[in-house]
Amino acid sequence: MTRIRAGMTGVEAQAAGARILQAAGVANPRTDARILLAYAFGVSRDRLVLLGDQPLSPEVAKTYHTVIAQRAARVPVSYITGQREFFGRNFVVTPAVLDPRPDTETLVERALERPFERVLDLGTGSGCILLTLVAERPDARGLGTDISEAALAVARRNAERLRVADRASLSVSDWFQTVDGTFDLVVSNPPYIAASEMADLDPEVRENEPHLALTPGGDGLDAYRAIAVGLAKHLSPGGRVLLEIGPDQGAAVTALLADAGLRQVQVLPDLDGRDRVVEGFMVEE
Ligand code: GLN
Repeated sequence: MTRIRAGMTGVEAQAAGARILQAAGVANPRTDARILLAYAFGVSRDRLVLLGDQPLSPEVAKTYHTVIAQRAARVPVSYITGQREFFGRNFVVTPAVLDPRPDTETLVERALERPFERVLDLGTGSGCILLTLVAERPDARGLGTDISEAALAVARRNAERLRVADRASLSVSDWFQTVDGTFDLVVSNPPYIAASEMADLDPEVRENEPHLALTPGGDGLDAYRAIAVGLAKHLSPGGRVLLEIGPDQGAAVTALLADAGLRQVQVLPDLDGRDRVVEGFMVEE
């Protein structure tokens, strides 16, 4: 049985960590062992190479042993280290929020293809979408809502860290319930996993991420239904909506937006070529 011990070199510890993670069925054992070793040493990943010959102190060995055990129990790396990079910026993440995914960068990229001044992010979670958008557009202002106070506390920390708190409001709302006014861009990565699909998720997701952020229950479309009906009131004429979807939901979400009066509705793929975002425009007056 592989063990992590004080006195091992960085290289040995990383190999030992990777073996433990591999045995636990973790998808990228070497990468994760490396990230977690850097975390245990308290250095950035690119400085880890300098510590390859360095023996682990008892404290570093203890921390590394603990975090490797957590990862072997399938806790996501970001919940262990407390952070995740998204669109080139570092976000605080806790188990109160969905771990930001690279897939969601597709929505952000699309949003940035056109100008916007007032953006609303429904179910903002860590704030990764909203805060990235206002950070990228220094003249834009935004509102992020979430039904979870605990999630909003994380989003507020991220707004402060990214120095956009003066342009990003964050408030509790069940979709549009407490939202006032109109926006020229509405974005959301709502919960969209069908109840019947929850059992198929990786243990990292199913057992660690907030179910509120993953699934609305039922057929997985209820959040889109709630969002679609509020757009007429809160999306300005000519305004745009961008919704992240699961790969099989393009047709259903397109129909919901079309029924709600949106025009030029189209489904856009992510970098893997899977349907990932639905876009629509509110009619001009
Ligand atoms: N994309 C996430 C997943 O597949 C789900 C996030 C969501 O439901 N919005 O795990």
